[in-house]
Amino acid sequence: ATPTAVMVATGKGASQGVLIKGGNALEKAHKVKAVVFDKTGTLTIGRPAVVQIKNFSKISLQELCKLAAAAEVNSEHPLAKAVIEHSKKLHQQYGFSDDHLLEAKDFEVHPGAGVGASIGDKRVLVGNKRLMLAFQVPISLEIQDYVSDMEHLARTCVLVAVDAVVCGAFAVSDPLKPEAGRVVSFLNSMSISSIMVTGDNWATATAIAREVGIEKVFAETDPVGKAERIKDLQMEGLTVAMVGDGINDSPALVAADVGMAIGAGTDIAIEAADIVLIKSNLEDVITAIDLSRKTLARIR
Ligand code: ADP
Ligand code: MG
Repeated sequence: ATPTAVMVATGKGASQGVLIKGGNALEKAHKVKAVVFDKTGTLTIGRPAVVQIKNFSKISLQELCKLAAAAEVNSEHPLAKAVIEHSKKLHQQYGFSDDHLLEAKDFEVHPGAGVGASIGDKRVLVGNKRLMLAFQVPISLEIQDYVSDMEHLARTCVLVAVDAVVCGAFAVSDPLKPEAGRVVSFLNSMSISSIMVTGDNWATATAIAREVGIEKVFAETDPVGKAERIKDLQMEGLTVAMVGDGINDSPALVAADVGMAIGAGTDIAIEAADIVLIKSNLEDVITAIDLSRKTLARIR
């Protein structure tokens, strides 16, 4: 497209809340044959809430919540917010003591897995099975059964380990964005396939994919793995768009032919993307592709 056509389209996009960072993305978007969606915060609203807590230990529920919340306080992840929110709520509800936030030291982020922190003399890990595996924390059959039950209900389990023993699990539910299913079926009608890639586990991911009408899922994928799945699709000769919101999506956003960041997402994702969907509405994936199609049709 000519510089003028690009400028016009960019301006039009901006007025609709689709921020296109350059001519290159605009020129590629009309060729997109596959859209890869991140799950949490992209297909789902990203405001997960704790719907159940299971205590596997002798530690009190109050203590468990406090430790988990303290470890999560430095995390940007939506699951971290859910854990902290729930801990606060319990404190208000039961009139627990005020000091609901303990001090965390030596905080570590493990992207696609969880977090770790030292709280007092305890080492606390909060995250998924992969995190526990990485730190050689055993998961009993009882815990495995509970986790798997929750996952088949499309819930994500956040495990809490204290000094290398899993003490509790937070079952978290994150509803789909209302437009998600509609966007997937519209893309399908444009002969564009939708794919889900997520760091979350297979059972939860599959349950959610089914709800939204996505057939192809890559679950339990770390940030580098997400980018590799994009490259695999490109090797099949497809022009690929990636839609994501998290730090964990940034390598995939860079790898994709067209990286689209959710406006409400993290700064790092927004920086890595070619297009920013300011309204955080998935319909704008179609707006962007449409704009590209129209711009390039005009000059042909
Ligand atoms: P998605 O790809 O769905 O956005 P992420 O890659 O961000 O998910 O995270 C994948 C999984 O890693 C989560 O489903 C969760 O099990 C775990 N996880 C990541 N960060 C955290 C955290 N701060 N607290 C608890 N669990 C986490
Ligand atoms: Mg996400």
